[in-house]
Amino acid sequence: MPSALETLVKILKLEQQNDCDGTALIGGLSGFHAFAENWARDAHTQAKKPEHHSLVDELSESIRRYAQMPDSRERAALIRHMLGRIMGRIPPPAETPTAATATAPAQTASPPERKPFPKRDLPPAGGKLAFPKQGEGQPNRPSPQNAPKEGKERKEGKDSAPHHGKPSTPQRTQGQTEARGNHGFNRIEESISFQNDDPDAPAIFANHEGSTPRSEPRLARPPRASRPPRDPQEEASFYERLSLPVIGIKGIGPKIGEKLSALGLESIRDWLYFFPRQYVDYTQLLPLRRVQPNQQVTVLGTVRSAAIIKGRRGVDVLNVTLDDGTGTITASFFGQPYLMSKFQRGTQVVFSGKTGIYLGRVTMDNPEWEPIEQEALHTRRIIPIYPLTKGLSAHSMRRLSAKVIETHTADMPDYMPLPILERLALSDLSWALRQLHAPDSWEALDHARRRAAFDDLLMLQVGMLRNRRTWQSLPGIALPVAHTWLYTISGAFPFAPTNAQKRAIDAIRADMAKPIPMNRLLQGDVGSGKTLVATVALLIAVSGRAQGAIMAPTSILAEQHYKSISRLIAGILVGIGLPEKAIRVALLTGATPAAERAAILAGLREGTIHIAIGTHALIQEGVNFARLGVAIIDEQHRFGVEQRGKLRGKGENPHLLVMTATPIPRTLAWTRYADLDLTILDELPPGRTPITTKVISPNHREYSYNFIRSQIRLGRQAFIVYPLIEADAEKGEKDLAKAAVAEYERLSQEIFPNLRLGLLHGRLSPTQKDAVMDSFNRGELDILVSTTVIEVGIDVPNANVILIEGAYRFGLAQLHQLRGRVGRGEYSGFCMLVDEETPSERLAVMEEVTDGFRLAEIDWEQRGAGELLGTRQSGRGFEMGSFMNAHVVELAQLEARTLYAEDPDLELPEHALLRAEIERIFGKAAPTDVS
Ligand code: ADP
Ligand code: MG
Repeated sequence: MPSALETLVKILKLEQQNDCDGTALIGGLSGFHAFAENWARDAHTQAKKPEHHSLVDELSESIRRYAQMPDSRERAALIRHMLGRIMGRIPPPAETPTAATATAPAQTASPPERKPFPKRDLPPAGGKLAFPKQGEGQPNRPSPQNAPKEGKERKEGKDSAPHHGKPSTPQRTQGQTEARGNHGFNRIEESISFQNDDPDAPAIFANHEGSTPRSEPRLARPPRASRPPRDPQEEASFYERLSLPVIGIKGIGPKIGEKLSALGLESIRDWLYFFPRQYVDYTQLLPLRRVQPNQQVTVLGTVRSAAIIKGRRGVDVLNVTLDDGTGTITASFFGQPYLMSKFQRGTQVVFSGKTGIYLGRVTMDNPEWEPIEQEALHTRRIIPIYPLTKGLSAHSMRRLSAKVIETHTADMPDYMPLPILERLALSDLSWALRQLHAPDSWEALDHARRRAAFDDLLMLQVGMLRNRRTWQSLPGIALPVAHTWLYTISGAFPFAPTNAQKRAIDAIRADMAKPIPMNRLLQGDVGSGKTLVATVALLIAVSGRAQGAIMAPTSILAEQHYKSISRLIAGILVGIGLPEKAIRVALLTGATPAAERAAILAGLREGTIHIAIGTHALIQEGVNFARLGVAIIDEQHRFGVEQRGKLRGKGENPHLLVMTATPIPRTLAWTRYADLDLTILDELPPGRTPITTKVISPNHREYSYNFIRSQIRLGRQAFIVYPLIEADAEKGEKDLAKAAVAEYERLSQEIFPNLRLGLLHGRLSPTQKDAVMDSFNRGELDILVSTTVIEVGIDVPNANVILIEGAYRFGLAQLHQLRGRVGRGEYSGFCMLVDEETPSERLAVMEEVTDGFRLAEIDWEQRGAGELLGTRQSGRGFEMGSFMNAHVVELAQLEARTLYAEDPDLELPEHALLRAEIERIFGKAAPTDVS
């Protein structure tokens, strides 16, 4: 169910298009009267704050007035006013409670010009904002004095109201807004609807004090500076300046520039969004007498002595002793003898860091330090810990960063429309950026992160919606098939389709029948039967005298598809009494011999080949289709934006179906794939046995090796997987990609000397990878040692054991993907997850839960949405994953949708900066594909 505000915006926009003649609703102008009441009821149930309720009252009153206005120009003005109020362009009427709802005479239809309003300033939630007087249409609304403070109580108050004007279901509003053949509202609905059929769909009015369990900042709301009116040109050029290189900033020459570049810091913008990877709280000053070993402390004192001694291996150690009157402490600086001059006897300095103990005395090694008169940049506050690179010290990184951030956030315009920030109590952009780099407090940091997460989500969503609209504005190929056709071919399927498969096929059939290009995501757990659905889409294209193409990320997958799809199609053809070869299917990969390739290209060009199955080879120059009706992409996350665009480009706006086995909770999918319609295969074909999963401690590896041996003795095969991660040198970790190689050596020589092992990792060439996979496929290898590259739909039915090392590093959803590699054949599957020494609760879930979507949800609860959303692809580098909880995601979705419903091209002046920012990330609204 769309939010009430979104529904209203759509209707108002439609009215505008229809010259305000009342035709947006069934019943014309008088329809608005009935609508007002139903709408208000829905909207009140979604409203959370007093000011939301008064806005609802005000708007429903305006809708009623609209129905009575004789003059269409007046009506047009009123619509502009209502939209202005919804979007916050126009401030609420003055404080007098009656002003909003007094049934104004028709001539007051243009209130914006009537009086200047004071700057809008929301009272705190539950504050003493006066409710408007009860309108006639709202019996028993609570009076201002005893208005409950929260949405929940508020709702109860409403529920206990004996009746509203007429009894009707909450759905009624929606029903009434459907209308008018195939122009007008339906069309709009289509272009922006989400098929949001979730009864718990959130309300636009939800506020952030609502349901977030996460740390609730004590800073009731972040400070927000007023926005001075500014020259739009000047604002735009502010953002353009952020693209300037960092080299050239005072103090940053080519030499430092090079080091910064190693961190990915090329432009000033890069720097603003280059956030610390953690923060350390040095705000608590401790008297030296109370300092204990193994504590994070900040201490202040006077230098009593400083001396350099030769440490082990000839390293110079500078020992500095501080005295604060209550006690002393000695800090050692290793290999930095030049610091000696900074610690003149008698100077006051601050040390921050972790304490240790040496010969019974409390010590500190390499603490953060600064002389006391300097501004507290490195100590006595929450200090940022940036990722570093060789030759750039934490000290200089912080110093440079502080300068850059200070300079370039001062006076920064904010691209986010003010009303959105107001509604959600979000902070200013410049404030948020400063706090993210140098937080004043943990609360401030929370606010800043919330803002950053929200921005990421909103832009992602608006960017996606824009893409979808542009893409679907092009005419597509209508490929209708009759019911009987579908009925006939499904009779020839080798198995009865699951209900989920039937639903997916129906949705695709309906999409492809329209002259609008389909844009659908088919999401289904490993083994849910996506191939059958894809095959039907291909057949629909062929039956409409068009062609179909399906692209897979590896040639192994492409070959697998070629075999299974050819077999499926041949079976269906025979089943319906056609010759087996009536449909020609070709396989095109990098390995296709030149002569064969030439023949295939000719066949595709002339239309004698109906279906092409392949890899990237399909999107190369020279591959042309006579009439491409449907383009299908399997394992979509393995493809980049351009590759998908290229496959589409092989036809004239073909229908697009993308498939993925990566489970992602529905709410998130609406953001991540807002440009796609979503179909979920939430049912596995019957007869699958779940994979037996066990979490094991690293000390028990031997057992798992024994188990693997026993299965191989039975003729099975096994995977051993190592996580591919960046080594974190500070934690003393080895590069685990290298570890896969090293482990392969160890396993082959020491553990399984009599078995045949293969090695697969991302640094192999595609041909090498294919060769390894092939021999595993053919059973020439017993064990495949691999990084996560095997995650993609490899189907080796004989492999039934998977051992995942370092499993605690993976998200649950990804572990689920990985374990889906086994148990695909007739043999029961086994999955062993190697945990940390101290086992975590987190992994234990894998033993119980077999549903990928449930695991994705748990992942989300535990780790936030960053990984699931892949927002880092947006190029902004926000790592706000853990702040992307369900609540923020929903808020961003609603704001984005409402914004989009009103101003899809972001043409209004107040959206100009936002548009520029979105275009910078997603490119100009061109028919490309971003998801
Ligand atoms: P995925 O969604 O992972 O791509 P596949 O399409 O490869 O799944 O299907 C997995 C296996 O299930 C295949 O062997 C396929 O033949 C089989 N299968 C698919 N649909 C059904 C069904 N409705 N009933 C029985 N088996 C099915
Ligand atoms: Mg598949």
